[in-house]
Amino acid sequence: MIKKVQETGHFLLLLARDFPRRNLLLAALAGTLIVTVYLSPGDNKIQPILIAEPITIALDSAPTVKEENHLQLIWQEHLVGSGDNLSTLSQRAKFSAKDVYKISSSPNGKSLRNLYPGEKLRFGANDTGQLIELHYVKTPLESQVFIRQEDSFVAETRVREPEIILSYGEGVIEDSLYLSGKQSNLPDKLIMEMADIFGWDIDFVFDIRPGDSFALLFEDRFIEGVKLSTGNIVAASFTNRNKRYQAVRYTNKKGQSNYYTPEGLSMRKTFLRTPLDIFRISDGFNLRRKHPIHKKIKAHRGVDYAAPRGTPVYAAGGGKVTEAGYSKYNGNYVFIQHGQTYITKYLHLDKKKVRKGQTVKQRQIIGTVGSTGYSTGSHLHYEFLINGVHRNPRTVTLPQARPIPKTDRLEFDLAVSPVLAQLAEYKAARQLATIQNNTTSAN
Ligand SMILES: [Zn+2]
Repeated sequence: MIKKVQETGHFLLLLARDFPRRNLLLAALAGTLIVTVYLSPGDNKIQPILIAEPITIALDSAPTVKEENHLQLIWQEHLVGSGDNLSTLSQRAKFSAKDVYKISSSPNGKSLRNLYPGEKLRFGANDTGQLIELHYVKTPLESQVFIRQEDSFVAETRVREPEIILSYGEGVIEDSLYLSGKQSNLPDKLIMEMADIFGWDIDFVFDIRPGDSFALLFEDRFIEGVKLSTGNIVAASFTNRNKRYQAVRYTNKKGQSNYYTPEGLSMRKTFLRTPLDIFRISDGFNLRRKHPIHKKIKAHRGVDYAAPRGTPVYAAGGGKVTEAGYSKYNGNYVFIQHGQTYITKYLHLDKKKVRKGQTVKQRQIIGTVGSTGYSTGSHLHYEFLINGVHRNPRTVTLPQARPIPKTDRLEFDLAVSPVLAQLAEYKAARQLATIQNNTTSAN
């Protein structure tokens, strides 16, 4: 289990580089997480379980790799470095230019003309040193294999499906939000995904409190016992200020995957809770707040999201742009009407990306964060109105997106109940292990 910690730690670094724009949010989240998952002494009692029933499409097909006849061949493996090509690698492996030419001029040999650093070539020779097989390993999952037949080579593609193991992770959020250098032992990807899943109900910047906790059941992908990557969250629970939210992943007949409550309601709502890629938020919804510009109490009827200039602003929901203009107070602004009932307003934009009358989809970029109009710094001022009345965008109850259709309900229940049961089982086992451990250490 300790080994696993190191692996995930490494993975975390890689991902952090992939998501530079989200680093701030990540740092904020990661810094708050104490993940007890891989470290708890009760770990040996909880073994990962291979999923028996297909939950995602990836699980449907069994591994297709064929047994290779390694016994008769002597293998060499060469990693493609920068500047390498088939010739340089073959020379290094000491095979004749003639064989190499035969392979590269074969119908499927074209792919060998563009080798990329990090890929591998495996040369298999018989005991007289003749090249019998060449494996072009593009990824751990995909290889192109060239096999000698008489005096030429035939090619085939070998694709392997990773073995998917369900892993469990849990954590408690503590108060050292910005101070703590502690890192979560869960991959960043999972933390991001969790924020996405629960982000419709919970504001991950404003609403998180010390003592909030979560539990995740997620996929780990393995090839020959070696961990390849972390896959999707299949079930999760998040307890925010003593209110528990649960989500489970479900893939319908069309192959579309979404997260639902155990009751089959979509986690996704018809409005985004926060209409931008969040970095930080400076101020909440407070009707008695002192406005920084006017230096007096001015009713603040929205929420201000401080964010760097240029941060994309999304349409919180699908609708029609009723206003897109400029005024002395609002700066560049966009108003969107959503059906008969809802209006959302976006002020102080640096740039508008939509025109009056235009139809927009949820999450479509309608502008960028700026500081135009009466504004002290770069931020988005966002308002949410129901039947013309301002509501707090952070706490207003948002209408649900489409639930699981009645016709799919039975199938949904059959698919998600075992997963939810497993999550509950892991959680209970972990709690028991913690109690036992505390009892033991007390003695
Ligand atoms: Zn404001």
